[in-house]
Amino acid sequence: KQVANILGVSFATRGFAETVTYLAERIRDGKQTHVVTANPEIVMLAREHQGFRAVLDQAYVVPDGIGIVYAAKWTGQPITERVTGVELLEALMAAADKENWNVYLLGASPEVNRRAAEKLSQRYPGARLVGYRDGYFQQDEEQAIVQEIAEARPHLLFVALGAPRQDEWIAAHRDQLQATLAMGVGGSLDVIAG
Ligand code: UDP
Repeated sequence: KQVANILGVSFATRGFAETVTYLAERIRDGKQTHVVTANPEIVMLAREHQGFRAVLDQAYVVPDGIGIVYAAKWTGQPITERVTGVELLEALMAAADKENWNVYLLGASPEVNRRAAEKLSQRYPGARLVGYRDGYFQQDEEQAIVQEIAEARPHLLFVALGAPRQDEWIAAHRDQLQATLAMGVGGSLDVIAG
């Protein structure tokens, strides 16, 4: 089975390596995907907020955290391992390095965003960093940012605005953004910036 139901949220059941292979294939095929790395907190949020549930319903939801893996195990569903945001980001960057994909980094503080952009370009020189900007923008700047991302045509768009805002943001602008794969990455840019 490709999907496991955890308290009403549909999770993809692929393991880490299979997830990377599957998502890379979708990118090559030009299929738009919104990836949400969901932990138990996200599942609880979806139970309380109908609007957020709708965000998850249109996304490819991966099990971020051992709590989800255990919940699947207890209910006899085939999720075998967790797929975390920072690991998935690194694996997708490795694919971008090989395939020269366009990458855009949105979010975190200006300092963290710049340092993460630097580190990722050093480590994955084949990936084309087509843009990066911090996540402390005003509401009236949002449309220009969406426009800039759309013009940069990223294969990979990583959004670090914290959950659930990053996932709502991607879903709200999905059609305009034109990113092939968009994923909320929480504190991952802080981790990468070091
Ligand atoms: N952030 C941002 N703009 C905001 C609020 C947060 O860019 O208005 C960034 C913050 O700097 C950090 C990330 O979003 O890089 C959220 O990280 P956190 O670990 O809090 O998120 P979680 O992993 O809990 O989703």
